[in-house]
Amino acid sequence: MTHDTPTLDADSPLRGARILVTGGAGFIGSHLVDLLAPHADVHVLDDCSTGNERSVHDDATLTVGTVTDRALVDELTDAVDYVFHLAAIPSVPATLDAPTETLDVNTTATAYLLERAAAQDARLVLASSAAVYGRPSQLPISETEPTTPRSPYGISKLAADQYVRGYADWYDCDAVALRFFNVYGPGQRDGVVPSFIARARAGDALVVHGDGSQTRDFVHVIDVVRALVAAATTPATGNAFNVGTGTTTSVVELARLVSDLAPESVPVVHDDPRPADIQDSCADTTTARDELGFEATISLSDGLASLVGRTLAAD
Ligand code: NAD
Repeated sequence: MTHDTPTLDADSPLRGARILVTGGAGFIGSHLVDLLAPHADVHVLDDCSTGNERSVHDDATLTVGTVTDRALVDELTDAVDYVFHLAAIPSVPATLDAPTETLDVNTTATAYLLERAAAQDARLVLASSAAVYGRPSQLPISETEPTTPRSPYGISKLAADQYVRGYADWYDCDAVALRFFNVYGPGQRDGVVPSFIARARAGDALVVHGDGSQTRDFVHVIDVVRALVAAATTPATGNAFNVGTGTTTSVVELARLVSDLAPESVPVVHDDPRPADIQDSCADTTTARDELGFEATISLSDGLASLVGRTLAAD
């Protein structure tokens, strides 16, 4: 089964708009840019630290630079209509290595972009994260669950996510935060899904950190792009919405699913647990469905089958 890039509605206000996508050379950002670039004046700001300039659609204009460069941000937000802010130091281990830089990139740069969006009367959509919840007290996790992040990554994302609400309240800034759960799909370089698929393809054992009983809500990147587009037009500004499927899969189950899809099944081995890893995660999708009009459509088994199929076809 294949999943086509979603199309932009004929009457979408994003058509013909001037749009800045920070992190648009990255995994999720490049899928969003693929959708928008044929229909709008799309600019990408990315330092290509984890992204790749070759992933940026030909119709978009890429500026290689950092979101902490305010002169550059001023230039790129001049007369902008929409900002999709996805640039970030995007992983728990990377932020544990650089907690102060994490605040500069993930939080302070977000506050400045919000300031610029407010000044331009533009809509800003922030890529927040389920990491803001830390260890949830109940599952599925609703947006009103207490936020107790356990890593510099989660803390920086929570602060950025709260600035979205703050700027909406204080300065009438038109902004929305989306708390992505575990995103996977074509073009992803880091994470448990690409790591399992690469190892299965090579006939190597799948390495599970800890006992593998930890659960995640895996949401396909095409669904995430649909959520980003919905957030660009929702009247429910100032809010944070979960972006997940509402179903949960253990890491050991994921390993089995990948192994079953591989040409030859591979063993699963266990390694040390990862620091600051959380045990369980699953989105309560009610508010996103009712207020954002977003529901994920791609099941993990379909998404994985398509991904493994594409990867093997590329051999
Ligand atoms: P990614 O690493 O592929 O994308 C992040 C992009 O930001 C990269 O292209 C990177 O080069 C760029 N970047 C990093 N620092 C920058 C800086 N200082 N200035 C400009 N660009 C910079 O990761 P992704 O998975 O596409 O994540 C996109 C966003 O979604 C991130 O904000 C991430 O925290 C968030 N998110 C992702 C997931 C997931 O499961 N992938 C889950 C929750 C939240």
